[in-house]
Amino acid sequence: MRADDRATNFHDVIAAISAAEKTAGRAPGSVTLIAVSKTFGAQDIRPVLDAGHRDFGENKVQEAQGKWPALKAAYADVRLHLIGPLQSNKAKDAVALFDAIHSIDRPKIARAVADEMAKQARKLQLFVQVNTGEEPQKAGVMPREAAAFLAMCRDELKLEIAGLMCIPPVEEEPAVHFAFLEKLARETGVAGLSMGMSSDYETAIEFGATHVRIGSAIFGSR
Ligand SMILES: *Cc1c(COP(=O)(O)O)cnc(C)c1O
Repeated sequence: MRADDRATNFHDVIAAISAAEKTAGRAPGSVTLIAVSKTFGAQDIRPVLDAGHRDFGENKVQEAQGKWPALKAAYADVRLHLIGPLQSNKAKDAVALFDAIHSIDRPKIARAVADEMAKQARKLQLFVQVNTGEEPQKAGVMPREAAAFLAMCRDELKLEIAGLMCIPPVEEEPAVHFAFLEKLARETGVAGLSMGMSSDYETAIEFGATHVRIGSAIFGSR
């Protein structure tokens, strides 16, 4: 894919997000686009940075360390979102590089991130991932444990939780999962909703997504 294709794709996605906000009766700009650049190199990412975009998502700490320090130095105000599972031995590196983590899903990780934020005097935007499909191979806190886990993060670790995140099972109707996550967020007093990918982000916006994570619709297939 050529560089100008990526800029075109990016503008198309931005237009589709605006249209979906309008259709859903949502305020313009109420949805943050996270351009998911995993597996793509700096030369693929630059056209989207040059188009003025600043929120990007990566799913692996080590991969992000290979390309983002230089890009962050070259483009001011980049906000980097970790959207993949985090191991506690990577918490230090993750807190140093990322501005948001969407995959907080167990006490050990919450504690490691809280400790590192205190040590490094950095405050990241944190999302709790919920395994809404209760899939054994997938990360995320189980729905029935979500309220207790949120209480532990807030009361014990004094963490501010910006939102909930989910990845619906591929073979299921995503709307059901988006509606479930929205209800859970309402019940637990969480404001943000990180949900919706290339194939279903317009539906996610209809159900209240505040952050959509879009890779292939911008960068092409991986
Ligand atoms: C890769 C990835 C995305 C983006 O997926 P696309 O279908 O390419 O838009 C979103 N969220 C997570 C957690 C991902 O790993």
